[in-house]
Amino acid sequence: MHTITIKEGREKLLLKHHPWVFSGAIGHIDGDRGEGDFAKVMSANGDFIAYGYYDEKSHIVLHLLSWDEGTPADETLVRSLVRKSVLRRARLLGEKGTTALRLIHGEADFLPGIAADCYGREIRIIVSSRFADRFLPGIAAELDTLLHPAIIEASVDKAYASSEGLSERIRTFKEGRETSEDLSRTNVRFIEDGILYEAAPGKGQKSGFYCDQRDNRRIVEGYAEGKTVLDLFSYTGPFTLHALRGGALSVDAVDSSESALRHLLYQVHINEDDGVIPKGSRERVTITDTDCFEYIRTVENGRYDLMILDPPKLARTKSNLDNAMKAYKDLNRVAMMKIRNGGIIATFSCSAAMTMENFRMMLSWAAADAHAEVQLLRTLSAGEDHPVRLSFPESEYLKGAVIRVIRH
Ligand code: SAH
Repeated sequence: MHTITIKEGREKLLLKHHPWVFSGAIGHIDGDRGEGDFAKVMSANGDFIAYGYYDEKSHIVLHLLSWDEGTPADETLVRSLVRKSVLRRARLLGEKGTTALRLIHGEADFLPGIAADCYGREIRIIVSSRFADRFLPGIAAELDTLLHPAIIEASVDKAYASSEGLSERIRTFKEGRETSEDLSRTNVRFIEDGILYEAAPGKGQKSGFYCDQRDNRRIVEGYAEGKTVLDLFSYTGPFTLHALRGGALSVDAVDSSESALRHLLYQVHINEDDGVIPKGSRERVTITDTDCFEYIRTVENGRYDLMILDPPKLARTKSNLDNAMKAYKDLNRVAMMKIRNGGIIATFSCSAAMTMENFRMMLSWAAADAHAEVQLLRTLSAGEDHPVRLSFPESEYLKGAVIRVIRH
């Protein structure tokens, strides 16, 4: 284990349990710098701060894991963090009607750079740190012991592959052990809030499905009865399916991914055939494969009663927040101008760089420019399986609002 001394004055956030240490804060390292290893982290005046994992090839060279001096960091600690993360979700795991949820939410669950989602009998892991890559076999073995999935599949997040120096290969684990067997499988089936879904193995965005929106989909469903709905950035259609179950008159789903839209139609079919959504739902859905920022401009005023705006992450980092704020504002402004007077918009941002305060400010600028009065009916966030750790504000990435747009 390394012993690492933090430069004087750079320990403040770390003492408040923020887990990230960049190279500029590292004072002295006792041990071989080149090797990734666990570390005991001390302040300049010799006080214990935390245990962590140091790897100079990682863009965050030191991740803090445990602030308890009596619990040194080793692989046993990593496995116990995995176990605790899963056990914290016991209530959700026991919930009827939902078999898709996040089991590990990175730093918010004290496991840096690792997200794990379960979809029915399958677990998908997204690796975004060298730490996660190194301990993947132990993490997979622990998940297998706890949940006995049919398969665990791990891939590296494209956004971090080059900064972490990781190859983008997919690794597969069966019965807790890594296998090179070619497991050509069919789609995995799962349910969320009673709605049926399928995800293709190793394909799709993120880990194939956005289960962070679970609670918000249920909320949107409550506004759909008798409404003409626009689902912008629909992906494979979870909001569309909820709107249909809620009794929408019609849903126009728009996305730039043609394959996602085809999958949306497929999921409408399986749910209609199973009686989950009303008969005739498939005739109520129209898909359009186009750019949503363009599409919204062409919408006839007053056509829609309910809109869902769920764009991809527009602010990648804090440095492009200003430009992203403009793009979010423009999208929301046009939607506010186009929606029927008194209509409802469920609007989201999944950019961690944008705070809830920024988000509300953006909405108020959009409302002013659209010459509309806007009532905030609800503020929304990710489901509880994507917790926000207060000592790590970066974990608050998804924010949203249900608003009513009033033009006098
Ligand atoms: N609402 C979805 C998730 C949306 S993810 C759900 O509940 O699951 C964001 C989606 O935006 C992706 O499907 C992506 O294909 C799409 N997208 C990204 N940029 C786009 C653009 N400019 N126009 C249309 N769709 C876009």
